[in-house]
Amino acid sequence: MSESMRGTRLGATSYEVDNGLSAPRQLTTYVCPEAHHTTLPFAAEADEIPDTWQCACGLMGTRWGHKLQEQPEGRYVRTHWDMLLERRTIAELEELMKERLALLRGSQKKSA
Ligand SMILES: [Zn+2]
Repeated sequence: MSESMRGTRLGATSYEVDNGLSAPRQLTTYVCPEAHHTTLPFAAEADEIPDTWQCACGLMGTRWGHKLQEQPEGRYVRTHWDMLLERRTIAELEELMKERLALLRGSQKKSA
């Protein structure tokens, strides 16, 4: 009979285990050249998460989804205008402009 009582007590105490780990943390995954994944939890407020981490196989893994600082020389940087052109053609923009101008002229005529 005493054994079943001990069992319930174990279940009750297991609650407290997680309490110390409630600090927010982010998982960071590193991928080595052999495509091994290493995922490590870092404190979310840690501003110094390493960009590289040594894999279990001994190779150096790089942070998953993290772009290294190096940027190719003279790299093309998209402007707002480029992004606009990706969504609309010049012809469409001209149409929009005409519509806008017509609206402007129309409202001016009305108020005049
Ligand atoms: Zn590896």
